Amino acid sequence: MKVIVMGAGVIGVTTAYYLAKQGASVTVLDRQPGPGLETSYANAGELSYGMTSPWAAPGIPMKAVKWMFMKRRPLFIWPLISPTMWKWGYDMVRNCNEESYRLNKGRMVRISNYSRDVMPDLIAETGIEYDGREQGTLQLFRTAKQLKDSKADQDILSEYDSPFEVLDSAGCIAVEPALAEVRSKFVGGLRLTADRTGDCRIFTTALAEKCTEMGVEFQYGTNIRAIAVENGRIAGVDTEIAGRQTADAYVCALGSYAAGLLKHTGIKLPVYPVKGYSVTLPVTDDAYAPQSTIMDETHKVAITRLGDRIRVAGTAEIAGYSNRLGPHATNTVRHVISDLFPRGGDLSKAEGWTGLRPMTPDGTPVLGASRYDNLFLNTGHGTLGWTMACGSGRAVADVVLGKTPEISFDGLTAERYA
Ligand SMILES: Cc1cc2nc3c(=O)[nH]c(=O)nc-3n(C[C@H](O)[C@H](O)[C@H](O)COP(=O)(O)OP(=O)(O)OC[C@H]3O[C@@H](n4cnc5c(N)ncnc54)[C@H](O)[C@@H]3O)c2cc1C
Repeated sequence: MKVIVMGAGVIGVTTAYYLAKQGASVTVLDRQPGPGLETSYANAGELSYGMTSPWAAPGIPMKAVKWMFMKRRPLFIWPLISPTMWKWGYDMVRNCNEESYRLNKGRMVRISNYSRDVMPDLIAETGIEYDGREQGTLQLFRTAKQLKDSKADQDILSEYDSPFEVLDSAGCIAVEPALAEVRSKFVGGLRLTADRTGDCRIFTTALAEKCTEMGVEFQYGTNIRAIAVENGRIAGVDTEIAGRQTADAYVCALGSYAAGLLKHTGIKLPVYPVKGYSVTLPVTDDAYAPQSTIMDETHKVAITRLGDRIRVAGTAEIAGYSNRLGPHATNTVRHVISDLFPRGGDLSKAEGWTGLRPMTPDGTPVLGASRYDNLFLNTGHGTLGWTMACGSGRAVADVVLGKTPEISFDGLTAERYA
């Protein structure tokens, strides 16, 4: 079977891998000159199985108002004249209730846990190195109230069998010794012991190389103009330079740009870009640097150790498809690293980056079959695309090839928006 995968981010490349592994002839199309150069490029590096939750949760609208007035705010909303943006926001707010939260979380955890289970096999099969570590995530609480409020999260973690431990400040320092320097700044933490970390771009690039060895063809520098529909089926993918590309089946893994290209096929996906920022800096002294991921609960910023580098990422900005990296855009993430690990890395050598999270209002990605029998979707992974990539790549590949996937697709397909 010949399959065209649209998009060479972490989602497209993992899908291509699982398709090729099962004997499909795969071509991947991407406008960039290589794999993983858009949102998969410099994310926070968390494989956050334990922190898999929708942003749309009870109480979030009130918190969002508070965040927007903070000095170093984790959330910006630019009041654009965009019906799509406001509709998406309205749908997100409608998901901020107990019942929707539980439903959406259950769907997301299904994919995350599957990813957690299948990723080790992929790593063993390919021998890929990606600055990976298996030392958990430490959610760091600066106030007693944050620690107390985490009880609700602990109950949910127990319900989903996600292992965790509650730590006082000495316990936090035991897992992240460099925090001893700033012990007065936090009161404790919640550690998600099964979480892992790693560099998503390095992984995506290395996996694309393996895919090439397996016979996958990557056509870079190929801008997709349209997905052509004829006689009720996908007739091909129209590209700027290479004209129409055809296959037996098509997988749309275009991240934040999926909705725009699918719109003309009649598929309406509420996938909206939510901008985030990161900086990456070299470690100056291991003794003062983070060892795994530390999630600063106050600023909603994640600090992750990736080999001899530190990645600091956060901020949610609702500003349309802007890729602009303004001079002050990374101020919040810079503040958090210098506040918690003042001697760990060299901020003067920090590289700034911005990316667009492909977010659905319910937090759950859109996977599997579409209204066309030869078009399949793998997009809308929002804040958790790196975490969910292997699981969704493998499950979607199974569906494309007509096999029974190992997880249920109930509530994961575009059907739920119909
Ligand atoms: C600041 C930040 C921090 C994050 N931290 C984490 C984290 O710690 N853990 C986690 O799990 N997730 C995290 N994420 C989310 C994660 O990075 C994304 O969910 C994931 O990268 C999405 O992958 P993708 O392959 O769907 O999209 P992309 O990587 O954007 O890939 C889509 C591809 O489609 C191509 N494309 C688009 N339009 C066209 C076109 N018209 N023609 C040809 N090609 C096209 C693009 O070039 C791109 O390569 C973070 C995101 C951000 C922004």
